[in-house]
Amino acid sequence: MTNLVVFLGPPGAGKGTQALRISSEFNLAHISTGDMLREHVKELTDLGKIAKSLLDEGKLVPDDLVIQMLTERLSHEDCLGGSILDGFPRTLRQAESLEKISNKFPVKKVIVLEAHQEELTKRILSRGQTSGRSDDTGDSIRVRLEVYKKDTEPLIKFYEDKGILTKINGVGNVDDIYELISKEF
Ligand code: AMP
Repeated sequence: MTNLVVFLGPPGAGKGTQALRISSEFNLAHISTGDMLREHVKELTDLGKIAKSLLDEGKLVPDDLVIQMLTERLSHEDCLGGSILDGFPRTLRQAESLEKISNKFPVKKVIVLEAHQEELTKRILSRGQTSGRSDDTGDSIRVRLEVYKKDTEPLIKFYEDKGILTKINGVGNVDDIYELISKEF
């Protein structure tokens, strides 16, 4: 059985939807750092207060804070059988830290969901009508896509070099994409 599986890909690629489905079918913990941070913002925690404006603007929360939050989360019992990381790592520093904190739970596989920029913008704008997410709007979407290109995309090569990366086309029928992903488990 796989331990940690990382879902990588730009905002709007469908990581959250697919990660949720896979985690429930394969009995894995679904760890979305975006969901966790939104919860902190809602609960007005110290981390939430720092994170709020960064989330709103589409910028990344500082590595140290997110790494600390994730390390704590991975210590929970529900992670023992394996977890899907959705939205982490997002920088090379986070990926390198993950190597250290996940000695016990090595990253076995990285799945990249790919989609082109126009499709992503269209999807996020349409999701924004119902998601209530403060960052699913014009300016913030542009920043999030830029941040992905600059900070997160280099992780594709990082994991490719380790030979654990699978690219999957994230454009098409949701069930077909799910079938492709589930073959990897
Ligand atoms: P997501 O729900 O994954 O699209 O994340 C929403 C927002 O949460 C991002 O735009 C960042 O502001 C923040 N965030 C989520 N995960 C991370 C991470 N691993 N590192 C830094 N910021 C993050």
